[in-house]
Amino acid sequence: MNDVAIGQGGYSVFYGTMADMTYPEVKEAAQQGAVVLWGLGVIEQHGPHLPLATDVYMPYASLRLVSAKLAAQGVRSVTMPPYYWGINDVSGLFPGTFEVRPAIMIEIMIDLIKSLKKDNFTQLFCVSGHGDAMHNRTILEGVKRGGAEAGIEAYFVGAPSFFKRLGFAADDPNTVATNGEVERKSKFADVHAGQFETSSMQRYFPGVVRSDVVPGLKATDLGPAELAEWRKGPQQALKVTPLGYLGDPAASDPVLGESLLVGQAQFIADAIAARAKK
Ligand SMILES: [Zn+2]
Repeated sequence: MNDVAIGQGGYSVFYGTMADMTYPEVKEAAQQGAVVLWGLGVIEQHGPHLPLATDVYMPYASLRLVSAKLAAQGVRSVTMPPYYWGINDVSGLFPGTFEVRPAIMIEIMIDLIKSLKKDNFTQLFCVSGHGDAMHNRTILEGVKRGGAEAGIEAYFVGAPSFFKRLGFAADDPNTVATNGEVERKSKFADVHAGQFETSSMQRYFPGVVRSDVVPGLKATDLGPAELAEWRKGPQQALKVTPLGYLGDPAASDPVLGESLLVGQAQFIADAIAARAKK
């Protein structure tokens, strides 16, 4: 077993995060007033062509870009290792989809935010990799309680239309809405493992995309009524999208994937820079 190819054939989502730093480096970053970035995703089915960790890879890639853009604006940041035991209401019935209860996730978030306080960080900015409403309401609750109990400024950063769908109050003190968002035009409702996610995964993590499967996937072509049905819960999602994706993966393009993620990262970085203590 000496030839096991450890460290080959995959992507490390620790790379560039606090997990690959040493403790003196973390101490120094806190002393310099670095803001903390945190992506919260899930391990969830993403059709027959994308890996279960797609919603972890995407915010990871986004925050790598955000961190560089913040540095260009003079804002220092560190990134927490990605959170991946999230809430899967809608596609919970597919194999490989893990689920935790919202109360458990909130408690973990509180403990981790307290750890940041112990290290003398003062501001935390969270982004989500997953559209499920319950997942995101849980993040906001964890941000609120963690921030309050630890005594740290904690925010959930997202696009205005996203927060609106989730029913977050426009003046919620723990949300930071981006000043605009990247327009995503698709012929079809493209919500899960469709053109957009497939494009970004092809651009940044091509080694885990089943590119031989992608061209053969037919667009789901669902209207608003079917989309609403899909969002209702796991039974409905299984019925409406038996293959697990919702959108048009075959129309994916890595160039589009890059422009989507870079554009989104710019909006996020600008929103954080405006709020960061300098
Ligand atoms: Zn996803």
